Amino acid sequence: MIIGILKEQADNRVALVPKTLKKFNVEQTEFRIEKGAGSLASYPDEKYEKYATVTDREALLKQSDILVTINPIPEKELKLIKKGALLVAIFSPFNNSELITKIKESGLQASSLDMIPRTTIAQTMDILSSMASIAGYRAVLLAAMESPGFFPMMITAAGSIKPSKVLVLGAGVAGLQAIATARRLGAIVEAFDVRAAAQEEVESLGAKFVEVPGAIDKRDAGGYAVEQTAEFIERQQQEVQKRAASSDVIITTAQILGKKAPVLLTKETVDQMKPGTIVIDLAASSGGNCELSEPGKTVIHKGVKIIGNSNLASEMPRDASFFYSNNVASYLKLLIKEGELHLDLNNEIIEKTILIKS
Ligand code: NAD
Repeated sequence: MIIGILKEQADNRVALVPKTLKKFNVEQTEFRIEKGAGSLASYPDEKYEKYATVTDREALLKQSDILVTINPIPEKELKLIKKGALLVAIFSPFNNSELITKIKESGLQASSLDMIPRTTIAQTMDILSSMASIAGYRAVLLAAMESPGFFPMMITAAGSIKPSKVLVLGAGVAGLQAIATARRLGAIVEAFDVRAAAQEEVESLGAKFVEVPGAIDKRDAGGYAVEQTAEFIERQQQEVQKRAASSDVIITTAQILGKKAPVLLTKETVDQMKPGTIVIDLAASSGGNCELSEPGKTVIHKGVKIIGNSNLASEMPRDASFFYSNNVASYLKLLIKEGELHLDLNNEIIEKTILIKS
């Protein structure tokens, strides 16, 4: 069984790091890696040499039984891949149906790591949590660097400065990490979420939970939020508006699985915010929580800087790759039995993640 690790095209991370490869049985699994695949993540080829063969991309596409990446392999390369091979990546299948059809037509199999259920048993494979946690941390560091002011309170001979006010919209994995990081830097933090369970977590990190009554909170939605009514969203936007005007930094993370992200920060709200306020929209790629955000771009509106970046994990590539790699390894161990690919659809994790099986 040959497992190929490809170089990402527009991402600093690598899907498997050398330390993880050690955990596999060399008699049954053979790793091959594209030259330079880990270099941007601080894992040079020499570090892989003990556990994997360093080779070129075309050979990997032609020979691998499993190809592991973070982002999907570009469509134009599908025809080069060995028939029946399994592609393991984050496919975001709700937004990528055309690509999934092309993979199927190319006679390949596909498994999407973002579909791993949020259950205790799947925790070691949960790439969404590990990447969100990095994004939340990184978002606060980015905001602190971009902000024209201090995060902590400063009392100096040159004058006193009040701590920054940080507003976090969506207190899931990324939001909680953002709260914890902003608190460590000395900011005053407020957070919103529609899941009642988030309140205790927010408060335990020393932030204030802002409740908007009337949220739909389905406990059977696998830990995810569900879409809210238009009436609720409008009331929530008004509550956000009240707080946004006095905030120095707003980190938005609110998402709904398979749906467009809710708009919580309207243009009207941004109009009323202080110049110099920083907005980091982690939901930019799924529609954005801020009406003015654009994915992959920085927009400045009346002095408010809105950074739409849903790929901040790529900017901390060494540790992001380490987490992703451990998650992928746990997942691969579930699929490989005695050196053979065994896609048992009776297993909930496999059933939820396999998009195409031949
Ligand atoms: P996510 O990325 O889908 O969404 C981020 C947050 O936005 C969520 O907390 C969600 O409730 C919130 N949100 C959605 N709409 C909103 C709105 N209109 N206003 C305010 N907030 C809104 O979620 P996530 O961070 O990946 O995970 C959410 C939760 O799932 C976790 O906090 C946890 O409870 C659960 N979870 C469980 C496991 C596990 O058991 N293994 C693993 C990961 C996550």
